[in-house]
Amino acid sequence: MATKTITTESADQTKRIAFDFAHKLSLPKVIALYGDLGAGKTTFIQGLAKGLGITKRVLSPTFVFIRQYKLEKQQAIFYHVDLYRLDSKKDIEAIGLKEVLEDKNAIVAIEWPEKIEEFLPKNITVVRLQSNGENKRKITIV
Ligand code: ADP
Ligand code: MG
Repeated sequence: MATKTITTESADQTKRIAFDFAHKLSLPKVIALYGDLGAGKTTFIQGLAKGLGITKRVLSPTFVFIRQYKLEKQQAIFYHVDLYRLDSKKDIEAIGLKEVLEDKNAIVAIEWPEKIEEFLPKNITVVRLQSNGENKRKITIV
């Protein structure tokens, strides 16, 4: 996929970008979302989930690290991983992240991927979100 950069001016617009992006994905796929707190990672993932056909509300997993949602297609799974509170790489095993990253029948979206950089698979899609004022966000998809 060629690099794509876009500036959105509302959370809804970011969700729409993610919704469209979801339709270009094929299994398996790991998506690493980089960006500061409030940059819009979770917002992007909400649009992504909707684009994947998930009707359940996607919330920040904060305390559980990983939430999973069934995808109707191919009985695959969408994993939403948020590593904000991961203190040590020693915990990667305990939270079951290795299995998630190896799941060939899954789409995995990871917030704070910098915490597990060396464990990320090689062929991932990177999404960078940067705040550019109250409602402006620069989104780069590589
Ligand atoms: P993160 O998961 O990166 O910490 P969130 O998605 O939880 O960020 O929060 C982003 C916040 O910024 C939300 O309150 C959202 O409504 C707001 N926001 C304002 N403009 C945008 C935009 N253009 N794209 C995404 N979020 C936006
Ligand atoms: Mg978040």
